Amino acid sequence: MASSSITGSASRRLEGKVALITGGASGIGASTARLFQQHGAKVVIADVQDDLGHALCQELHPDVTYAHCDVTNEDDVRNTVDHVVATHGKLDIMYNNAGISGSMIPSIIEMEKANFEKVMSINVVGPFLGAKHAARVMVPARKGTILFTSSVISVICVAAAPAYTASKHAVVGLAKSLGVELGQFGIRVNCISPALVATPLASKSMGLEAEQAEDVMGRAGNLKGVVLQAEDIAQAALFLASDESKYISGLNLVVDGGFSTINPSLG
Ligand code: NAD
Repeated sequence: MASSSITGSASRRLEGKVALITGGASGIGASTARLFQQHGAKVVIADVQDDLGHALCQELHPDVTYAHCDVTNEDDVRNTVDHVVATHGKLDIMYNNAGISGSMIPSIIEMEKANFEKVMSINVVGPFLGAKHAARVMVPARKGTILFTSSVISVICVAAAPAYTASKHAVVGLAKSLGVELGQFGIRVNCISPALVATPLASKSMGLEAEQAEDVMGRAGNLKGVVLQAEDIAQAALFLASDESKYISGLNLVVDGGFSTINPSLG
């Protein structure tokens, strides 16, 4: 009996849920929007790349809609959360995913303060604002799930990139703290930490075209030379957003094909 209800829900694992995904116009966010929609969710993607965002919504209309939102701007974030609630009546899943690699300047001596601040602003202040305004509507509802995209760089240091590395450690700390604070209201908070994923961010941070970047990633030591795709991270987000993970909170889920365990010397 139990297995048939599990099978039934497995095909539409987010039926009736409402999700907001920042950085949803590209890469991991766009793949997650697509997968969430396939599983029955209504999704609002928030981004600053309006053309890409609108194009994705045209394809996934009417379940996926777009809102212009700079995650570093509190008015934008507040208005976007309010827009989701006004449109769909609630917010079940807040996925704070937008991020940048910034200029990968390996030397702290050469790094400008403005460069460090820009990365921290988008990668840390943005998720803070997203979580804050999601909590504002989730706490009274006594339910919800907040997700963040950190990076494998939060558990293993694979490159000298002070701003990006610091920002992704901060995201894990934010998630853990909020997991403690918001658990009493039935709100789960989790992090996903991918290794290199074939997205525009990865190729940009390596200074390579997409195909060259995939080649480098394949040789970089993910399990069996596998190149992680955005869909692989979307599957992790689907699990953490769904009720199947109802007892999981405060987790930093590393999705790296074993990279961080088979390359301990990089730590
Ligand atoms: P991506 O560049 O394809 O997508 C990131 C999206 O964030 C873009 O659409 C961009 O416009 C948006 N964005 C940037 N600044 C924003 C702002 N101020 N407000 C709103 N949106 C903004 O890259 P991706 O690889 O899909 O990255 C998604 C997340 O995954 C990021 O947090 C990134 O750090 C993380 N990540 C990526 C990799 C990787 O190898 N691709 C690995 C680990 C973690």
